[in-house]
Amino acid sequence: MTTRRQPADEQAERIAAACLCGAVKVDIQYPAFWAWHDHGRPSRLAHGAVYATYVGTWRKRFRILKGKRTVREYLDKETGNTRAFCSKCGTPVWYVRKSAPKWINIPRALFTARTGREPRYHLNYSELQDWIFTGAALGPLKNYPGVMYERPKRKKRNEPPPMF
Ligand SMILES: [Zn+2]
Repeated sequence: MTTRRQPADEQAERIAAACLCGAVKVDIQYPAFWAWHDHGRPSRLAHGAVYATYVGTWRKRFRILKGKRTVREYLDKETGNTRAFCSKCGTPVWYVRKSAPKWINIPRALFTARTGREPRYHLNYSELQDWIFTGAALGPLKNYPGVMYERPKRKKRNEPPPMF
């Protein structure tokens, strides 16, 4: 008797991602191919954040598990890129760039499990915003439990002028 082996893709571990309301659920084969931060304006606006972090993989390794009809797609006519979001809660759920149509990028925040890739790449880094949090020292804000506060930088008084 012979046992039929499953194709490698069917045996692979998969990791799921879901939108805020849970109506849209997708998964990808583990590990992802890469993870990256996008500092460009379109991603900033689509996410309402200082930058967006994506996990990218081949489209053939991506599946929609739930909520296909709930997803709406937006084609950015300027770039040719397509962004999808949940029509119930507004969460961005995937992003396909015109220049890389075989790839799909899912916001990292939608995954609860590890994706197998650290976000070490920065796209559109020249657009980095000056309001980004870069890990400055924080202290608790008095009378606001749970709120941390970054003290403004003090100008040094009575400092001699720089020597040239
Ligand atoms: Zn949703």
